[in-house]
Amino acid sequence: MELNENARIDTSQIDDQRSSGGGGGGGIGGLPIGGGGLTGIIVTVLIALVGGYFGINGLSGGGGEPQAGDNTSLQQECSQADAIKQLDCRNALFVNSIQDYWADAYPQNFGDPYKPAKTVFFANRVQTKCGAADSGVGPFYCPADDLVYIDLTFYKLLADQLGAPGEFAQPYVLAHEYGHHIQDISGTEAAMRREQQRDPSQENKLSVKLELQADCYAGVWAKNATGTDVGGQKIFKSITEQDIQEGLDTASKIGDDTLQQRSGGSINPAEFTHGTSAQRQEWFSTGYKSGSPKSCDTFAAGAVS
Ligand SMILES: [Zn+2]
Repeated sequence: MELNENARIDTSQIDDQRSSGGGGGGGIGGLPIGGGGLTGIIVTVLIALVGGYFGINGLSGGGGEPQAGDNTSLQQECSQADAIKQLDCRNALFVNSIQDYWADAYPQNFGDPYKPAKTVFFANRVQTKCGAADSGVGPFYCPADDLVYIDLTFYKLLADQLGAPGEFAQPYVLAHEYGHHIQDISGTEAAMRREQQRDPSQENKLSVKLELQADCYAGVWAKNATGTDVGGQKIFKSITEQDIQEGLDTASKIGDDTLQQRSGGSINPAEFTHGTSAQRQEWFSTGYKSGSPKSCDTFAAGAVS
């Protein structure tokens, strides 16, 4: 992947809360993830797997008051000549690209205008309308406040602990979370929650379909990424087969079966919430090959076994 070094990074799509020291309140313990409605890239088994990596674990219940971010230093850093060498600026640019894609594609595919969503950069711990969360839960989307949340140190965990060091893991993760935003504004997520309530025995299976659809949307973005721009400047000079391979490789490292195995447990399909490694690769691939969100109907009868 080669980024356009002349692209002017739009940091207004980021809410930088890294200096605010994280959300207060709440203890360590319970994991009301389903109840909070937050949808992340990985299952919570990761917490058991890499617990301690970030010091604290999990989510504490109840929605707190979201913190106010301060973009001053990010904005300064990302307007420098070599900004794309910086992890945070590159990630801001990925967010620009993903949202530029959906600004056109959402109206074409869903008939309504696209509603932008910011990404919150946080460090260690953050207060959201879905509850307080710490880095151990991985990047996630909170439908209650329409925000994507990421502690950028997650990429180090992906590389060092989960064996997915490829750089394309970064836009893949972000595009997956924006996939959840699309599911939120299109009503797919709400419909899926209603279905879960109607038939609790299908709760995890429905969750898998939602997650695989987000992977598919990430693939769709990847296919269209070289056409995206920020303020009229192309964002990518190129995306290569190697990048796509890194996206697939990441998908394979965060499948439920692989994570369960890695955590030393036996593989238990009844507990899958995100799909197997093979499924995650398959749906990222489906999106990438078609380049169209219409190919991502994981809820269609028989689409996901
Ligand atoms: Zn997800």
